[in-house]
Amino acid sequence: MTPNSLEIVTDWLVTAGLRPTRQRVALAELLVGDGKHRHVTAESLFDAAKDTGAAVSLATVYNTLRAFCDAGVLQEITVDGSKSYFDTNTHDHPHFFWEDEGRLTDAPSDQLVIQRVPDAPEGVEIASVDVVIRLRKINR
Ligand SMILES: [Zn+2]
Repeated sequence: MTPNSLEIVTDWLVTAGLRPTRQRVALAELLVGDGKHRHVTAESLFDAAKDTGAAVSLATVYNTLRAFCDAGVLQEITVDGSKSYFDTNTHDHPHFFWEDEGRLTDAPSDQLVIQRVPDAPEGVEIASVDVVIRLRKINR
């Protein structure tokens, strides 16, 4: 880990209010260590961790991603009932889902205009609005 990425990772965990365990530091480095935003699944992060030689299980990766979400430093985006993506950019923004590749990327926020959303039913409020635009290849 470079001094710069160590600082980013440490700041991120402090912001999250999470104790910097070895596994959290290793996973946080893969998520935000280069200072860029990314979208991961538990499986893709697990594979990336294995590549670096980090000794973590898929269950640990999943639990750690949950802890980061609960702490507000990650955003979960559910694309279909079973598949969750985790985004280090926690600000509201739309996504493209590339169906052929199972990949989630950011869509340009400045091109999205939401005029109105339905009123929330009695007794509840809208917690968030997820915009996922599904893409598929055009076969010509
Ligand atoms: Zn995103």
